[in-house]
Amino acid sequence: LQLTLAIIKPDAVAHPLFLEAVHQTILDNRLLIVRSKDVTWSRQESQKFYQEHSGRFFYQRLVEFMASGPMRAYILAHEEAIPLWRSLMGPTRVFRAQHTDPESIRGSFGLTDTRNTVHGSDSAASASREIAFFFPDFNEE
Ligand code: ATP
Ligand code: MG
Repeated sequence: LQLTLAIIKPDAVAHPLFLEAVHQTILDNRLLIVRSKDVTWSRQESQKFYQEHSGRFFYQRLVEFMASGPMRAYILAHEEAIPLWRSLMGPTRVFRAQHTDPESIRGSFGLTDTRNTVHGSDSAASASREIAFFFPDFNEE
């Protein structure tokens, strides 16, 4: 089975009904929950996770937002975990999500391009890196 790293971001964790709805979407789509945990990042952890975006105009905003409150991280497993979770998330930009994929998680719950409810690994290499970032003991179990 393929693994991916999913995050429910602080905007959605702050709203219990949004958190529950995203969790239910995971279950409804038969993604297996291999691990889950609630975490709040320091600014340093947020910067490190998003290093690849460090030159982008939205980087500071993104880093601050992701360190602004608790989030929930999951390791999810499925034959097609990476593309399946990405398609459930919907487009990055909230306007696009609402207009082209209104049933998606971001189309339903996204607030802004930064506060867009969820994260998902975009490749197998990202998934390994991100799983190790959140669950450093995972491979040794
Ligand atoms: P994620 O990495 O969170 O799964 P993604 O892969 O769809 O999302 P990326 O291009 O990797 O999108 O951007 C990472 C995050 O940076 C986005 O989820 C969003 O929170 C923020 N972001 C991306 N583009 C913009 C933008 N144009 N304006 C504001 N924030 C943005
Ligand atoms: Mg991304």
